[in-house]
Amino acid sequence: MSPRTIGMSDSLYDYVLKVSLREPEILARLRAETTAGPGGAMQISPEQGQFMQLLAELTGARSYLEVGTFTGYSALAMALALPADAELVCCDVSEDYTNMARRFWDEAGVADRINLRIAPALETLEALQGDGRQFDLMFVDADKENYGAYYEAGLKLVRPGGLLMFDNVLWGGSVADPDKQDADTLAIRALNTALQGDPRVSLSLVPIGDGLTLARRR
Ligand code: CA
Repeated sequence: MSPRTIGMSDSLYDYVLKVSLREPEILARLRAETTAGPGGAMQISPEQGQFMQLLAELTGARSYLEVGTFTGYSALAMALALPADAELVCCDVSEDYTNMARRFWDEAGVADRINLRIAPALETLEALQGDGRQFDLMFVDADKENYGAYYEAGLKLVRPGGLLMFDNVLWGGSVADPDKQDADTLAIRALNTALQGDPRVSLSLVPIGDGLTLARRR
Protein backbone atom coordinates (compact mmCIF):
# COMPACT_ATOMS: atom_id res chain seq x y z
CA MET A 1 0.00 0.00 0.00
CA SER A 2 1.11 3.54 -0.59
CA PRO A 3 -0.44 6.99 -0.22
CA ARG A 4 -0.69 7.58 -3.96
CA THR A 5 -2.81 6.30 -6.84
CA ILE A 6 -2.02 2.66 -7.43
CA GLY A 7 -0.38 1.53 -10.67
CA MET A 8 -2.65 -0.67 -12.76
CA SER A 9 -1.20 -3.99 -13.90
CA ASP A 10 -3.15 -5.99 -16.49
CA SER A 11 -4.27 -8.50 -13.88
CA LEU A 12 -5.42 -5.77 -11.50
CA TYR A 13 -7.28 -4.01 -14.29
CA ASP A 14 -9.00 -7.28 -15.21
CA TYR A 15 -9.97 -7.69 -11.58
CA VAL A 16 -11.48 -4.20 -11.44
CA LEU A 17 -13.62 -4.98 -14.45
CA LYS A 18 -14.55 -8.39 -13.12
CA VAL A 19 -15.84 -7.15 -9.77
CA SER A 20 -17.32 -3.79 -10.73
CA LEU A 21 -18.33 -3.54 -14.37
CA ARG A 22 -22.05 -3.55 -15.09
CA GLU A 23 -21.98 -2.92 -18.81
CA PRO A 24 -25.38 -3.40 -20.45
CA GLU A 25 -25.40 -5.84 -23.36
CA ILE A 26 -26.11 -3.13 -25.92
CA LEU A 27 -23.13 -1.06 -24.77
CA ALA A 28 -20.91 -4.15 -24.89
CA ARG A 29 -22.04 -4.78 -28.47
CA LEU A 30 -21.44 -1.16 -29.48
CA ARG A 31 -18.00 -1.29 -27.92
CA ALA A 32 -17.11 -4.55 -29.70
CA GLU A 33 -18.26 -3.22 -33.09
CA THR A 34 -16.35 0.05 -32.53
CA THR A 35 -13.19 -1.74 -31.45
CA ALA A 36 -13.25 -3.83 -34.63
CA GLY A 37 -13.64 -0.75 -36.85
CA PRO A 38 -11.49 2.24 -37.83
CA GLY A 39 -10.39 4.45 -34.93
CA GLY A 40 -11.60 1.85 -32.44
CA ALA A 41 -9.01 2.88 -29.86
CA MET A 42 -10.67 6.31 -29.56
CA GLN A 43 -13.67 5.10 -27.63
CA ILE A 44 -13.80 5.43 -23.88
CA SER A 45 -13.26 2.44 -21.63
CA PRO A 46 -16.31 0.71 -20.17
CA GLU A 47 -15.39 1.51 -16.57
CA GLN A 48 -15.12 5.17 -17.53
CA GLY A 49 -18.57 5.03 -19.09
CA GLN A 50 -19.92 3.55 -15.88
CA PHE A 51 -18.13 6.20 -13.81
CA MET A 52 -19.70 8.95 -15.93
CA GLN A 53 -23.11 7.33 -15.48
CA LEU A 54 -22.61 7.47 -11.72
CA LEU A 55 -21.63 11.15 -11.98
CA ALA A 56 -24.83 11.80 -13.93
CA GLU A 57 -26.83 10.18 -11.15
CA LEU A 58 -24.93 12.02 -8.40
CA THR A 59 -25.42 15.40 -10.02
CA GLY A 60 -29.07 14.75 -10.83
CA ALA A 61 -28.33 15.86 -14.38
CA ARG A 62 -31.20 16.29 -16.81
CA SER A 63 -29.23 17.75 -19.68
CA TYR A 64 -25.95 16.67 -21.27
CA LEU A 65 -23.72 18.31 -23.83
CA GLU A 66 -21.11 16.24 -25.63
CA VAL A 67 -18.28 17.37 -27.89
CA GLY A 68 -16.92 14.43 -29.88
CA THR A 69 -19.51 11.69 -30.16
CA PHE A 70 -17.68 9.22 -32.43
CA THR A 71 -19.67 5.96 -32.53
CA GLY A 72 -21.89 6.98 -29.65
CA TYR A 73 -20.73 4.92 -26.67
CA SER A 74 -20.53 7.77 -24.15
CA ALA A 75 -23.77 9.33 -25.37
CA LEU A 76 -25.60 6.01 -25.09
CA ALA A 77 -24.16 5.36 -21.65
CA MET A 78 -25.33 8.79 -20.52
CA ALA A 79 -28.73 8.45 -22.15
CA LEU A 80 -29.24 5.22 -20.21
CA ALA A 81 -28.27 6.94 -16.95
CA LEU A 82 -30.23 10.17 -17.35
CA PRO A 83 -33.98 10.45 -16.74
CA ALA A 84 -36.30 9.70 -19.64
CA ASP A 85 -37.09 13.39 -20.20
CA ALA A 86 -33.44 14.40 -20.36
CA GLU A 87 -32.00 16.11 -23.41
CA LEU A 88 -28.62 15.24 -24.87
CA VAL A 89 -26.92 17.46 -27.43
CA CYS A 90 -24.08 15.70 -29.21
CA CYS A 91 -21.54 17.38 -31.48
CA ASP A 92 -19.46 15.62 -34.10
CA VAL A 93 -18.16 16.22 -37.61
CA SER A 94 -18.37 12.64 -38.91
CA GLU A 95 -21.51 11.26 -40.55
CA ASP A 96 -19.84 7.85 -40.85
CA TYR A 97 -19.06 7.37 -37.16
CA THR A 98 -22.32 8.85 -35.96
CA ASN A 99 -24.36 6.62 -38.30
CA MET A 100 -23.23 3.73 -36.14
CA ALA A 101 -24.14 5.78 -33.07
CA ARG A 102 -27.66 6.45 -34.40
CA ARG A 103 -28.22 2.77 -35.11
CA PHE A 104 -27.49 1.85 -31.49
CA TRP A 105 -29.42 4.81 -30.06
CA ASP A 106 -32.44 3.67 -32.11
CA GLU A 107 -32.12 0.13 -30.90
CA ALA A 108 -31.83 1.30 -27.28
CA GLY A 109 -34.94 3.47 -27.68
CA VAL A 110 -33.16 6.70 -26.70
CA ALA A 111 -32.71 8.32 -30.12
CA ASP A 112 -35.52 10.81 -29.47
CA ARG A 113 -33.60 12.25 -26.52
CA ILE A 114 -30.41 12.83 -28.47
CA ASN A 115 -29.96 15.92 -30.61
CA LEU A 116 -27.00 15.18 -32.88
CA ARG A 117 -25.35 18.21 -34.51
CA ILE A 118 -23.03 17.44 -37.41
CA ALA A 119 -20.84 20.55 -37.68
CA PRO A 120 -17.59 21.90 -36.26
CA ALA A 121 -18.36 21.84 -32.53
CA LEU A 122 -17.31 25.43 -31.87
CA GLU A 123 -20.03 26.56 -34.30
CA THR A 124 -22.63 24.45 -32.51
CA LEU A 125 -21.48 25.68 -29.10
CA GLU A 126 -21.73 29.27 -30.27
CA ALA A 127 -25.26 28.65 -31.57
CA LEU A 128 -26.26 27.06 -28.26
CA GLN A 129 -24.91 30.12 -26.44
CA GLY A 130 -26.91 32.33 -28.77
CA ASP A 131 -30.01 30.38 -27.79
CA GLY A 132 -29.20 30.91 -24.10
CA ARG A 133 -28.91 27.18 -23.45
CA GLN A 134 -27.58 25.81 -20.14
CA PHE A 135 -26.53 22.23 -19.44
CA ASP A 136 -25.96 20.24 -16.26
CA LEU A 137 -23.17 18.11 -17.63
CA MET A 138 -20.64 18.38 -20.46
CA PHE A 139 -18.19 15.84 -21.83
CA VAL A 140 -15.38 16.85 -24.17
CA ASP A 141 -13.60 14.13 -26.14
CA ALA A 142 -12.73 15.69 -29.49
CA ASP A 143 -9.86 17.43 -31.29
CA LYS A 144 -7.34 18.24 -28.59
CA GLU A 145 -6.11 21.50 -30.13
CA ASN A 146 -9.49 23.06 -29.39
CA TYR A 147 -9.70 21.88 -25.77
CA GLY A 148 -9.02 25.38 -24.46
CA ALA A 149 -11.77 26.83 -26.66
CA TYR A 150 -14.19 24.06 -25.65
CA TYR A 151 -13.44 24.81 -22.02
CA GLU A 152 -14.22 28.50 -22.36
CA ALA A 153 -17.41 27.75 -24.27
CA GLY A 154 -18.31 25.10 -21.71
CA LEU A 155 -18.02 27.58 -18.85
CA LYS A 156 -20.77 29.59 -20.54
CA LEU A 157 -22.94 26.60 -21.43
CA VAL A 158 -22.74 24.62 -18.19
CA ARG A 159 -24.82 26.07 -15.37
CA PRO A 160 -23.18 27.15 -12.10
CA GLY A 161 -22.77 23.94 -10.11
CA GLY A 162 -22.71 21.87 -13.29
CA LEU A 163 -19.87 19.60 -14.29
CA LEU A 164 -17.44 19.71 -17.21
CA MET A 165 -15.52 16.51 -18.06
CA PHE A 166 -12.46 16.40 -20.31
CA ASP A 167 -11.17 13.12 -21.69
CA ASN A 168 -7.59 12.08 -22.52
CA VAL A 169 -5.96 14.61 -20.20
CA LEU A 170 -3.04 12.22 -19.61
CA TRP A 171 -2.68 11.53 -23.37
CA GLY A 172 -1.04 8.16 -22.94
CA GLY A 173 1.51 9.71 -20.56
CA SER A 174 2.77 12.19 -23.16
CA VAL A 175 1.83 15.16 -21.00
CA ALA A 176 4.60 14.23 -18.55
CA ASP A 177 7.23 13.48 -21.22
CA PRO A 178 9.27 16.61 -22.02
CA ASP A 179 10.28 15.11 -25.37
CA LYS A 180 6.67 15.16 -26.54
CA GLN A 181 6.04 18.56 -28.11
CA ASP A 182 3.34 17.78 -30.70
CA ALA A 183 0.34 20.07 -30.99
CA ASP A 184 -2.10 17.70 -29.26
CA THR A 185 0.18 17.16 -26.28
CA LEU A 186 0.86 20.89 -25.98
CA ALA A 187 -2.87 21.67 -26.06
CA ILE A 188 -3.72 19.15 -23.36
CA ARG A 189 -0.80 20.33 -21.21
CA ALA A 190 -1.99 23.91 -21.61
CA LEU A 191 -5.50 22.99 -20.48
CA ASN A 192 -4.23 20.99 -17.51
CA THR A 193 -1.98 23.85 -16.41
CA ALA A 194 -4.65 26.50 -16.90
CA LEU A 195 -7.27 24.61 -14.94
CA GLN A 196 -5.08 24.14 -11.90
CA GLY A 197 -5.09 27.88 -11.22
CA ASP A 198 -8.56 28.65 -12.50
CA PRO A 199 -10.78 29.91 -9.66
CA ARG A 200 -13.92 29.48 -11.79
CA VAL A 201 -13.99 25.72 -11.18
CA SER A 202 -13.48 23.07 -8.52
CA LEU A 203 -11.11 20.49 -9.93
CA SER A 204 -10.06 16.87 -9.90
CA LEU A 205 -8.00 14.99 -12.48
CA VAL A 206 -9.15 11.41 -12.20
CA PRO A 207 -6.68 8.82 -13.54
CA ILE A 208 -9.35 6.60 -15.08
CA GLY A 209 -9.04 5.56 -18.70
CA ASP A 210 -6.62 8.00 -20.35
CA GLY A 211 -7.28 10.60 -17.64
CA LEU A 212 -10.58 12.37 -17.02
CA THR A 213 -10.62 15.91 -15.65
CA LEU A 214 -13.67 16.91 -13.67
CA ALA A 215 -14.26 20.64 -13.39
CA ARG A 216 -17.33 21.85 -11.54
CA ARG A 217 -18.36 25.35 -12.49
CA ARG A 218 -18.52 27.54 -9.42
CA1 CA B 1 -11.10 9.94 -25.80
